[in-house]
Amino acid sequence: MEQTDTIARDTARATETRKVFVKTYGCQMNVYDSQRMSDALAADGYEPTQTIEDADLVLLNTCHIREKAAEKVYSELGRIRDLKNERAAEGRQMVIGVTGCVAQAEGDEILRRAPAVDLVVGPQTYHRLPAVVRRARAGEKVIETDYAREDKFDHLPQPDRKIVRARGVTAFLTVQEGCDKFCTFCVVPYTRGSEISRPVAQIVREAERLVEGGVREITLLGQNVNAWHGEGVAKGGSTREWGLGELLFRLAQIPGLARLRYTTSHPRDMDDALIAAHRDLEQLMPYLHLPVQSGSDRILKAMNRKHTADDYLRLVDRIRGVRGDIAMSGDFIVGFPGETDEDFEATMKLVREVDYAQAFSFKYSARPGTPGAEMKFHVEERVKDERLQELQALLTNQLEAFTQSRVGMEMDTLIEKPGRRDGQIVGRSPWLQPVILDETVGRIGDIVRVKVLSAGRNSLFAEPV
Ligand code: SAM
Ligand code: SF4
Repeated sequence: MEQTDTIARDTARATETRKVFVKTYGCQMNVYDSQRMSDALAADGYEPTQTIEDADLVLLNTCHIREKAAEKVYSELGRIRDLKNERAAEGRQMVIGVTGCVAQAEGDEILRRAPAVDLVVGPQTYHRLPAVVRRARAGEKVIETDYAREDKFDHLPQPDRKIVRARGVTAFLTVQEGCDKFCTFCVVPYTRGSEISRPVAQIVREAERLVEGGVREITLLGQNVNAWHGEGVAKGGSTREWGLGELLFRLAQIPGLARLRYTTSHPRDMDDALIAAHRDLEQLMPYLHLPVQSGSDRILKAMNRKHTADDYLRLVDRIRGVRGDIAMSGDFIVGFPGETDEDFEATMKLVREVDYAQAFSFKYSARPGTPGAEMKFHVEERVKDERLQELQALLTNQLEAFTQSRVGMEMDTLIEKPGRRDGQIVGRSPWLQPVILDETVGRIGDIVRVKVLSAGRNSLFAEPV
């Protein structure tokens, strides 16, 4: 009876637009996925809203990488349950969905811990979201976490130009998903599955569509983006496997696409062609996020990273050898099981040697189901805190020194958005820093040559030259 009522109400509202509120946790790949989910739902009559209270459908696109990230989702679900109850008292339905990596990792456990949730959809099946939402609206609890046999990208609608334009002049484009590396601390191979690479033609079509919608800068995404090896065309029209370097050259031919970036890379997959792209490809920005995690060979081995600290340092030298102005960025984990003061000191030494422009550092978080969680000699929380503080102090000094080193430089800036203060506009430097400019300097999407006059902690203040 209840279901029939819902369907009847649905029919009555069929001409109305429903509203979807999507909250994104975690990495850029989730930001991209959230946009594609919104695109899929737009084709089914859902309009995005920034106000959760107005939403007919609330989606939490979640991250499972560290315990804190996963727990945040459950506390948010408590708050949303109250909203759902308030709406139900007014006779209005609110459907709650959990998507992303927590959905994949925890499946029906989510419904047990948070019974207000109506649907759970993993990262590989979100192209089925419109159908799943329809079932949930009819009263069913739906869990879709199997790996789909079909290619989800073939089934996802492209956003229309108006939507692309509204999202701005920089865009993400996922080219690779999943991971086969099995670092012992990491859940990605379990939540995102094994590595897949999208074919060249599909990526080029999506990039062209973004550029038609006004995008000037594209960041290619993948959990291991430089392991991308998609099917491309060979001379004579047959197909063969391409590498990321080749793909970047192909994308650079798209008229109007001014800048390219890619993230996140693994040190073992930086091949010669990709390094050559940093030398030869003007559109490829001089910024590389290349996580090392630790500077201790003993810990790197226990992490199953399959490279040493010296391999990493030599790689950085090679990249800097072809592109002297490249800014290095990285990820670090402190307090991996068994990490001694000496191991930690090796990380500090590596950081001093590389001299990072940007970096992300984390306390080790034991993830259920990963080999790291089962290891002996877990490091005390207090020690992890101390090490993280020490490492972050060093990384912050390096970040500030890098920012200051831009003062007096001339550089191209892609104007991205209005500034926080009246009369200001914000651009992006080749090294990803915000550049604050007077709004008369140009329009959003323009690339203007500027001179940096002064710098804050991470942002630059500049004027046109
Ligand atoms: N594929 C990338 C690589 O190989 O370095 C990393 C992707 S991972 C999604 C992002 C970062 O989260 C990692 O580089 C690592 O520093 C951090 N991370 C992953 N698992 C973690 C854990 N269990 N505890 C703390 N940090 C973790
Ligand atoms: Fe996780 Fe990156 Fe290691 Fe893959 S390579 S397991 S994504 S840290």
